[in-house]
Amino acid sequence: MAENSETRKKSEFAYERRNAWEKLSDSERNLVFQISEDYRVFLSLNKTERECVRWFDAEARKNGFVDISQAKGKPGEKVIIRNGSRNILLAVLGKESPSKGANMVVSHIDSPRLDLKPLPLIEDGDMALLKTHYYGGIKKYQWVNIPLAIHGTVVRGDGSTVDLVIGENADDPVFTINDILPHLAQKVQGEKKLLEGVEGENLRVLFANIPVADKDLTEKIKETALRRLHEQFGITEEDFISAELEIVPAFPARDVGIDRSMVGGYGHDDRVCAYVAFRSVLDFEGIPERTAFALLVDKEEIGSTGVTGIRSRFLYNSFGALLALYRPEYRENELREGLADTFCLSGDVGGVINPMFKEVFDPLNSPHMGFGVILEKYTGSRGKSGASDASAELMGKVRKIWNDAGIVWQTGGLGKVDEGGGGTVALFLADLGIQVVDAGVGVDGMHSPFETVSKVDIYQAYRGYGAFLKDA
Ligand code: MN
Ligand code: MN
Repeated sequence: MAENSETRKKSEFAYERRNAWEKLSDSERNLVFQISEDYRVFLSLNKTERECVRWFDAEARKNGFVDISQAKGKPGEKVIIRNGSRNILLAVLGKESPSKGANMVVSHIDSPRLDLKPLPLIEDGDMALLKTHYYGGIKKYQWVNIPLAIHGTVVRGDGSTVDLVIGENADDPVFTINDILPHLAQKVQGEKKLLEGVEGENLRVLFANIPVADKDLTEKIKETALRRLHEQFGITEEDFISAELEIVPAFPARDVGIDRSMVGGYGHDDRVCAYVAFRSVLDFEGIPERTAFALLVDKEEIGSTGVTGIRSRFLYNSFGALLALYRPEYRENELREGLADTFCLSGDVGGVINPMFKEVFDPLNSPHMGFGVILEKYTGSRGKSGASDASAELMGKVRKIWNDAGIVWQTGGLGKVDEGGGGTVALFLADLGIQVVDAGVGVDGMHSPFETVSKVDIYQAYRGYGAFLKDA
């Protein structure tokens, strides 16, 4: 029997996932495209955690934020706390001391990529190549035969540093990793599983091809590469050892779809939530009751480790620094109690239903693209392992804030039970006693060089984070 949507009735008691495009007024529709375009430009410009921090810092200062060392502790004051080059915290000071708690959003600004090895440069098969070690969970076959750029920082032997970006300007060269041609792939790839078709050790970036004229040198093409690097950046081979050089897709983010409803680009995970978190603090109107802040962290993709991962002391110390603005001689227990009274959105992306792989999703519980910001009670895998699993009370609190503010949101989880899984920073925030739940934008093609998000989901996440920072 055919379904007649004209006469189909919805139960007033049933949950209905709403398409966020259908709920927009004309003025809101303009805002959707406006904030998405701002985001698209940001994403094209910022492809490493360092670049994101630099950009957020500069934009915040243009908008009245000051370094915490200059802050007076006045409610409404806008404060920056930096943790080196790869973490930044942006706060609007509240009327009451953070010893009573704060409202926060945490997102990560590192994305899966290929890092150069400490000694990357080799000559092999008449080519100079750069050896890499992939960072985060990638499907290696997706990173071959696309234009790649190099972004990063090199500390030279004399202690000076040089930032370099090669491959983003139209007249820059780009780099690539060559896959094997299909004509000869039958055995080396055809008899393997898809995910093993390109091996990690073979993710070697094509870097140069002209030999130098010096006949006494054994590696003449590698020498060309070394000479060019020295001419252009004043670096030598040993300088690679004290460098962070990241190989990322060389193309900008683009509108996707004939209706321009989506943004495609590298690094939506998790720069889309980071951008939205940043914007919701930047655009915060009025003086909040509780201090509202966004924390943008590094190293999520490899386990939140290191001095710039969420597991470092940076958050704990920063919370103390905010507290000290209210009461310089605060006691340790005020800090601990403040953290325990803090509400946090772990702003990270969720995987939306991919229509070509429906079998791995649960259509009732998996997020849909274009259906608003995702509220995700738990992540993890195989029996919720590794999940922070937000309480019913916290879920209820966020749900109420969002419903009261008219935000289009949806529940979401990562695929069917036992299909796989993943995690976020949520559990590490919970370790500090912070009441935390995952909430973010849905992504399709996650961890690929060109991921897709819906513009209306960006907008609803922006509104959702803003409402949470104000009212949690
Ligand atoms: Mn993420
Ligand atoms: Mn990720």
